[in-house]
Amino acid sequence: MRHLVKAVALASLLIASALYLAGRSTHIRGGAPTTPRIPPTRHVWLTFTKAGANSPLGLKLEAMLDSMMMHSRDVVLHLNVISDVTSRDAARLLIDRLLSLHYPSTSSQSPENLKPTPTYSMYDVEECARNLSDIVQCMTPHFSSKPGSYYSDALFYLSLGLHRIAPEDQTQIISLDCDLRFKSSIELLFKEFDKFSSTNLYGLGYELSPVYRHVLYNYRTKHKNTRFGSEPHFSKGNAADTSNLASNRSNGVNGADAETEGFPGFNSGVILLNLERLRRSKTFANLLKCDVVRNLTKTYSFKGHLGDQDFFTLLGYEKPELFHTLDCGFNRQLCKWWRQYVDVKIFDDYFKCDESVKILHGNCNTAIAQNENYVLKV
Ligand code: UDP
Ligand code: MN
Repeated sequence: MRHLVKAVALASLLIASALYLAGRSTHIRGGAPTTPRIPPTRHVWLTFTKAGANSPLGLKLEAMLDSMMMHSRDVVLHLNVISDVTSRDAARLLIDRLLSLHYPSTSSQSPENLKPTPTYSMYDVEECARNLSDIVQCMTPHFSSKPGSYYSDALFYLSLGLHRIAPEDQTQIISLDCDLRFKSSIELLFKEFDKFSSTNLYGLGYELSPVYRHVLYNYRTKHKNTRFGSEPHFSKGNAADTSNLASNRSNGVNGADAETEGFPGFNSGVILLNLERLRRSKTFANLLKCDVVRNLTKTYSFKGHLGDQDFFTLLGYEKPELFHTLDCGFNRQLCKWWRQYVDVKIFDDYFKCDESVKILHGNCNTAIAQNENYVLKV
């Protein structure tokens, strides 16, 4: 009997070993498990011009990168900074200082505790502007206030040509303003690429002010029920079966009968770009042509002043299939400038954001308090 127990135990052991070895060999064929997975490099693009290290923009950039590094310890970051002669050294100093603070290379740290240190590259703004001069020429007459004014520089159209500027090996990138503050890992933002439909080229959050309600005043007067320029939760008259709002949007429906949700326009402080598709897209190359841009602005009697985001806004209405809409928590704008010029109730309908805040945006020079966890205070 005891022999039988022994024999059964031996047989089980042999079977278990065989299974273990079979499993192991499968793993070896499959490759991965024995070596740790190397996370992908995440490419972030920033513009930093006409500024010094302690200038207002320098301080914003520092606070932004500080919060990004603090919340994104496990992310392999590569910063791509577009800068000019006066600001380049300041940007380098500032980034190097933050890197030594957040990623000290002390020998006391065990290798497994060492976090991947971000790297960075600098690009010359004038060279970029030359490379994109055809795009800028088509855009400025429609989306800049007056030549030489704040938003008229090529600087504010760079996002429309990053697919020409960025090195070929960069396929998905995120462009960020300097006046942001991270509340969580930038990896959450990169994960939004996984939600892109097969036609999406860009990911953007809504503009959280009624600026396009104002810009589109003439068009909206003639098209009373339009959702273009309306607050996100707008529903016209009694049209609303609000249950299919999301499907209207994902189907790209923007005809009169489907107008159940407002489209306030996009804000370009945070932009996801699928560069691989942008480089290949004939549709997009065509949309950047001067006569196409002119016709687009004519259709909506549109005269803007906010650069790239004006163009994204027009395209977002005309060609929604090109865009993935980020939830408002990824670009929680804080500017309340419009609140003094429109009905407060209207302003608050645009400004409201119930999503968890991942990134704060101190646009129109709005200060972001340390440790601010933003809730609307009225
Ligand atoms: N910017 C710059 N130099 C300037 C002004 C702006 O490099 O003199 C860049 C910077 O990245 C900034 C972005 O352009 O974040 C957009 O400007 P800003 O954030 O001030 O615009 P807002 O979000 O207030 O509309
Ligand atoms: Mn900004």
